[in-house]
Amino acid sequence: MTGPLLVVSGLSKHYRRAGRTITALDGVSFEVDRAETFALVGPSGSGKSTVARLLLRLADADAGDIRFEGRDLLALRGTKLRAVRPRLQMVFQDPLSAFNPRATVGRVLDDPLRIHGLVGRNERPGSIAALLERVGLSPALALRAIHEISGGQRQRVAIARAVATKPSLIVLDEALSSLDVSVRADILDLLVSLQRDEGIAYLLISHDLGVVGRIAHRVAIMEAGAIAETGDARQIIAAPTSLIGKALVAAMPSLAWLASKETG
Ligand code: ADP
Ligand code: MG
Repeated sequence: MTGPLLVVSGLSKHYRRAGRTITALDGVSFEVDRAETFALVGPSGSGKSTVARLLLRLADADAGDIRFEGRDLLALRGTKLRAVRPRLQMVFQDPLSAFNPRATVGRVLDDPLRIHGLVGRNERPGSIAALLERVGLSPALALRAIHEISGGQRQRVAIARAVATKPSLIVLDEALSSLDVSVRADILDLLVSLQRDEGIAYLLISHDLGVVGRIAHRVAIMEAGAIAETGDARQIIAAPTSLIGKALVAAMPSLAWLASKETG
């Protein structure tokens, strides 16, 4: 397959609520390359999660086109859609609501291996142990329930589950937002090492330019359902040109170190 991993063109989505039409997305276009981290940044309500929902086919677009691994994603149905599912994974902000909290960690990781028929029954416990080790967790954790482990451990389990199916793209929608700063830094390091070893691309959705500046290669800044500016992540953080970009950077004094790195 040639060309970018993901090509989003002219994506639009409207919602009707109480007789009013809400424009969630208005002609959004961007591309993500293999093994690249592309960030979508913007204030609450700017349409970031809508992009994720349309990509994961959790909602239907009104207009536009999504090509993923060369396929017309929005046209896929049934078995063809199921066949791309393993390649396009998602990590949500709150894994406690994404998983059954009483399920064991082992069960959560066994599901994708079984459902997608990736590993034979006898090999699955070994695969689960390897996945846990890959995300920096003890294989013994497989016996614990999701609600018993810490938020950071849970987010590592969510990442293990996403990588279990050997995806080419993982969408991370505010996946690190509810974590402590030090836990977040460790998980950012984990994401970088997974990308290096397995060539996974990330669509990193975040309102936190600090997170974006640490791992994103390119960024698109969104406002009111449209992309206000896009380009190299460090350049945009150092010298945003859009009003919304300037406002987001100004709201984060801790980003000064990045800006000084860029200019100095
Ligand atoms: P973000 O993730 O950037 O905070 P969203 O994509 O969740 O933004 O939302 C974009 C806009 O679409 C917001 O105005 C939001 O209220 C609206 N919206 C999102 N989902 C729905 C829905 N299911 N019904 C009605 N409006 C929605
Ligand atoms: Mg959102």
